[in-house]
Amino acid sequence: MDAQEKKSTSKPVFCRFRELGRAEMNVELQVHTTWTDGQATVLQILQAAKERGLGALAFTEHVREETAWFHDFKDEVLSSARDFDVLQVYVGCETKALDADGRLDVSQQVLDACDIVLGVVHRLPDGRGGYLDFKQLSFEQTADIEFQLSIGMIRNAPIDVLGHPGGMSLRRHGRFPEAYFRAMMTATLERQIAIEINSSYLADMPAFLALCEEVNPFVSIGSDAHRLNELGRCRDRLLELGVGRL
Ligand SMILES: [Zn+2]
Repeated sequence: MDAQEKKSTSKPVFCRFRELGRAEMNVELQVHTTWTDGQATVLQILQAAKERGLGALAFTEHVREETAWFHDFKDEVLSSARDFDVLQVYVGCETKALDADGRLDVSQQVLDACDIVLGVVHRLPDGRGGYLDFKQLSFEQTADIEFQLSIGMIRNAPIDVLGHPGGMSLRRHGRFPEAYFRAMMTATLERQIAIEINSSYLADMPAFLALCEEVNPFVSIGSDAHRLNELGRCRDRLLELGVGRL
């Protein structure tokens, strides 16, 4: 039987922040493996997810327009997942914005093969085919460009989730304007896509969650796990912070 028939999968269903319960939070929806820059194999991730009692897991590998290995990756995920019936497993990708209109660095073939697509800002395009140097940009410039790229994806790109919102500004400057977070959440609601609660990037998770409580967007939960010990970290952090109805 074709591996794709068995365990694949519907798309993940995202709920709005105020509807999050224990079951909805018991997921890990951003994971990287040795197929790209992660440290653990697909099988090791599945085993750890089972041990940690996760209900659902998305492998969201980094891709580029020219990525040619995606179907082999998907086959490995689906065939490995057969032995883990307790887990709902999704195949996905993380792809970056190429411009402020929402163009993504991913092929249609890969998009078609995904259950979940995370759109992210990783680089800041200079509009001439190259990229700006983060070191030359102020906090305000970085945040402004990141915001424009994010809004472009939210409005136009074939994504399910805006991944690590504000991530580049958070990594480089430790912060991202609340007004931008708010505008992004509001825009995701209009298109009914999810915004990610990302435990790896968010410098002030309680503040981000307070905004989620207010705007009530659809949310995705991702640790951006690159190592086994990071798997399920976002769920654990949310539980620590007392998020979620019983
Ligand atoms: Zn990323």
